[in-house]
Amino acid sequence: MEQKQTKPNIIFIMSDDHAAHAMSCYGSKINETPNLDRIADEGIRFDNAFCTNSICAPSRAAILTGRYNHMNGVKTLGDKFDSRQQTVQKILQDDGYQTALIGKWHLGHGGIHNPTGFDYWNVLPGQGVYHDPQLYEMGEKKVYEGYVTDILTDLSLDWMKGRHKDKPFMLMCHHKAPHRPWDPDKKHAHMYEDVHIPEPETFNDDYSNRSEAAKEAKMRIDRDLTERDFKVTPPEHLSDQELKSWKYQRYIKDYLRVIASIDDNVGRILDYLDEEGLTENTMVIYTSDQGFFLGDHGWFDKRFMYEESLRMPFIVRYPRAIQPGTVTKDFALNVDFAETFLDYAGIEVPEEMQGTSLRPVMEGNTPDDWQTSMYYRYWEHLSSEHKVGAHYGVRTTRYKLIYYYGEALGASDAVDESRTPEWELFDLEKDPYEMNNVYSDPSYSETVVTLKTELYRLKEAVADYE
Ligand code: CA
Repeated sequence: MEQKQTKPNIIFIMSDDHAAHAMSCYGSKINETPNLDRIADEGIRFDNAFCTNSICAPSRAAILTGRYNHMNGVKTLGDKFDSRQQTVQKILQDDGYQTALIGKWHLGHGGIHNPTGFDYWNVLPGQGVYHDPQLYEMGEKKVYEGYVTDILTDLSLDWMKGRHKDKPFMLMCHHKAPHRPWDPDKKHAHMYEDVHIPEPETFNDDYSNRSEAAKEAKMRIDRDLTERDFKVTPPEHLSDQELKSWKYQRYIKDYLRVIASIDDNVGRILDYLDEEGLTENTMVIYTSDQGFFLGDHGWFDKRFMYEESLRMPFIVRYPRAIQPGTVTKDFALNVDFAETFLDYAGIEVPEEMQGTSLRPVMEGNTPDDWQTSMYYRYWEHLSSEHKVGAHYGVRTTRYKLIYYYGEALGASDAVDESRTPEWELFDLEKDPYEMNNVYSDPSYSETVVTLKTELYRLKEAVADYE
């Protein structure tokens, strides 16, 4: 049945820890994602979409509220979301949208931490599991047999099938995959078996010319992955370098296998839209809560403000307004998503939201004064097993300045242990892989001054005074 309403439907598909450089539309050298590529080919690909804090719960809170973490209260994984605050889904629901959240919530459970603003929600507890997951359907526990990515897609399709066809909808489908421990389904278990996945350029980074924070981090492929990650015992009698390569192959292949399932399942959603005649009037977004290190710098995981974890994949298809095959380098931030949806729904944006609607960029009308710098802050100080020190910084189109301030500063999930504060400056034009900290190089002294001014301007602008 043809829809009468003119407001777009919104399908927001977000995976967990899917780096843009593991998507063929972003030029992946290691896998193919034909269904995700459909969204990019038929819509827009953002090459500079960034998260404002590269970790699961804080990024999710920023997306739902359009506010930075010191404002929405979720600075670390230890902070639970207060669902009484304003969110994009509440505003859309008040406006007459049917709303649903299916999959990963990861912002706390029970009482004021349960999802609000959704007519229907069915969420994984915490991180959830890959096989036979338990979910909380409107708070009630149920176990579903099968593979999590298939199940979340089935639930999403079922919800869309049962919707009122005369009202617009927003569906948030939040996959668990490809989060650790990277358990593939049967269908993809043998994919890449006889293939050698190339190692990234910075695989053997020795962290010289970098901060102590980079050296201290415990997310190294050769040292910090476990047998649970490999699913088998590592072979003996290999040289250190051979063993590191073996570990990388085990890790990256499972990571790519769970992504293959996401790609298939996104294809099912797109096919459903085609069959129902919903393609024209539905905005489909694919993103991930942050990026990830895929052996880059010898690491897995995220947290750092370095490019691989800072960058989010962000592709959007909306045939009514976005030209197919659009590619942009204009900055987009996770705090911008909420305002973008409200803009397209024709709803006024509440004052407390701190982002900017991406609509002009999506439609090829980027204003002259569009954002060319962004503020980042990672609050968890040394608390996780990965031992990444707290830091904040600014990224501009050419440079990145990072300040590891060396203390917990009151963040709930932080270790009260101090480090000597350190600065890093990268010239991304000359050093795109961020291998050489030029903070103390005299030829960059003016750049440092300019960037510090910009950093403190941004801190002020987002009201982060600590
Ligand atoms: Ca994540």
